[in-house]
Amino acid sequence: MAFLNGICALCQASTHLQSSHLLPKSLYRYIRAKGGGDKSLIHVGQHAAFRSDKQYAGHLLCTSCEQLFSTNGEEPVLSACYRGQGFFALAQALATHRPICQTNDLAFYDAQPLGALAEQLAYFGISIIWRWSAGHHVWPESTRYPRRLGKYEDLLRPYLLGQASRPGSINVWVEVLRPTVPLELLALPAGPDHGTPRDYEFWIPGLRFVVRVGGGADEVSRVCLTGSTIQTLCQVDPRERRSFAAIVGLVRGADPKGRLATALR
Ligand SMILES: [Zn+2]
Repeated sequence: MAFLNGICALCQASTHLQSSHLLPKSLYRYIRAKGGGDKSLIHVGQHAAFRSDKQYAGHLLCTSCEQLFSTNGEEPVLSACYRGQGFFALAQALATHRPICQTNDLAFYDAQPLGALAEQLAYFGISIIWRWSAGHHVWPESTRYPRRLGKYEDLLRPYLLGQASRPGSINVWVEVLRPTVPLELLALPAGPDHGTPRDYEFWIPGLRFVVRVGGGADEVSRVCLTGSTIQTLCQVDPRERRSFAAIVGLVRGADPKGRLATALR
């Protein structure tokens, strides 16, 4: 592992920095190992989609902060997300519970039976958005707008370090995607560069995360994974998502093959 001396973006110690990935590199490994013919993930960017193994990585965190991110979010979430060939632990766990509310294309589940995983999903979502914002200098191609979190970067540091609870002005939604389309899509974080509240979104295989920064305790914020009334997870058909329509348009340009081409037709 290559080290570099510098200031850790999270704990701010002057120390050895290790190479960090914007999105966990194991995601690529699962899909490559199990994906069959089309072995790369489809990356969806702001202006194009492409089939690629390209990974954004750079020296950002010290070893102990990288380990915190891994233990508190990455490891449990990657065990739960879609891992290829129909293996999707979180969807299978939800299937054993009754939704608390259901419409044609949306089901809400109480996240409490998931135990620690509910908090780990929230931590993971926030850590990815924070890492994307704070590490802009190490992966500048990932966004046109640097340091989008602004003051929230500092506000979130104690929470991410495990020294404080999550600020009430940060909420997280997690959607579990139904397998109506192949689920090995990856969308890098995206979101506005101004306004309140601001919603930042990213996708990993089988899951869509939305992290809302700022705003008050409105009815939307009461029904989410970090909700004050009830902690909920949604299960959705990804084709119903507005952003998915844009993603499909981009993916079509990436020359989808096989099952993906059929699903996107
Ligand atoms: Zn550190």
